Amino acid sequence: MKINSVRNLRDFKGKIIFLRVDFNVPISGGKVREDHKIKAGLETIDYLLSKGARLIIATHLGNPKKPDCKLSTRPIAARLKTLLRRPVKFSPKIVGAETKVLIKKIKPGEALLLENLRFYQGEYTNDSIFAKELASLADIYVNDAFAVCHRAQASVVAICKYLPSYAGLLLEKEISALSKIIRPKKPLVVIMGGAKVKTKAPLISKLYPKADKILLGGALANNFFKFQKLEVGKSLVDSDSDAVIKKFFKNKKIASKIILPIDVVVKTKTGKTKLVLSGNVQKSEKILDVGPETIAVYAEHIKKAQTIVWNGPMGKFEEDSFKHGTLSIARLVASRSSGPAHGVIGGGETVEAFQLTKMSEYMDWISTAGGAMLSYLGGDKMPGIKKLIK
Ligand code: ADP
Ligand code: MG
Repeated sequence: MKINSVRNLRDFKGKIIFLRVDFNVPISGGKVREDHKIKAGLETIDYLLSKGARLIIATHLGNPKKPDCKLSTRPIAARLKTLLRRPVKFSPKIVGAETKVLIKKIKPGEALLLENLRFYQGEYTNDSIFAKELASLADIYVNDAFAVCHRAQASVVAICKYLPSYAGLLLEKEISALSKIIRPKKPLVVIMGGAKVKTKAPLISKLYPKADKILLGGALANNFFKFQKLEVGKSLVDSDSDAVIKKFFKNKKIASKIILPIDVVVKTKTGKTKLVLSGNVQKSEKILDVGPETIAVYAEHIKKAQTIVWNGPMGKFEEDSFKHGTLSIARLVASRSSGPAHGVIGGGETVEAFQLTKMSEYMDWISTAGGAMLSYLGGDKMPGIKKLIK
């Protein structure tokens, strides 16, 4: 798959570029609380501005049904300005005459951030009229928002009908890092945890023929215990997980690759922390982490891997007593990556947990996109990317 990279773009000095990013960051009290998504987008912005583009930057923020001042992108403009050390103006409107006046004033090397794209319903519905209005603001379209490429929305898909379209540097890197999971050097070890079987199952279905081992943890594993009629007490499980899991166990090839925790850390009725073998959980207890024997087994597989992909924490890492499984796996994955293996992680909470290890520099790739990464690896259609293929 050859993507039309922004690097192929020549002579765009003075041209107006509409750059779609994913700066969907947490905001409270009018300030950006966490900015790793903005930082990840700086390379493309810097590249375009340093070559003299006049930049319109647009993102969504949350899922508003109508304009909502709590979900204004204005605080993002302020943070972006600080990080870029270049002028970044803010447009309170997205389309229309007022916006056009502001765009006229952008000088080469300067940027204007638009208000939240999702204040317009047309964004959600991939509406052609809205997309055409967006396109009328600029000469060229660049998509650097991998995280939304699995969604058919106006600023991701329909806009490409009206402007020459290119992929940003971050989007290009996401695809290149994830393609190595789809065509892996073997052995491929897939590590999955977190919650919600339904969102994780397609990935297991898609990757199992290539995967050598699928190591499970987190609440995801609880569903497998439940299916095997092991006691899970008060643990978090999905009510409708059995049908999905049955399919996995019916297929002997998948079943032979799936590895479940052999020991788990539970919270007892009195709030104490206890280590037990999987299967010895009491009715009043809650599984909240994987145990040390499990880590030892998983470590053996991780040490042999040439490709590793990890999504979903091994336990409720937000509580100190239950973070050890997740952090141990994180350290193992990090130490095997960038050299011996191609190591990729992704997912909102997975990345958050991983950052606690301060070992991010050892990873080959940390995906900024949770849902989109799962969709891409799971083989779903990615309408946003389709438009950028040469
Ligand atoms: P990601 O965002 O990385 O894809 P998920 O959204 O699937 O991950 O799941 C992350 C959440 O799952 C975390 O907030 C974590 O606390 C929770 N979790 C993991 N294991 C358990 C467990 N055994 N019991 C309850 N919650 C769990
Ligand atoms: Mg999550």
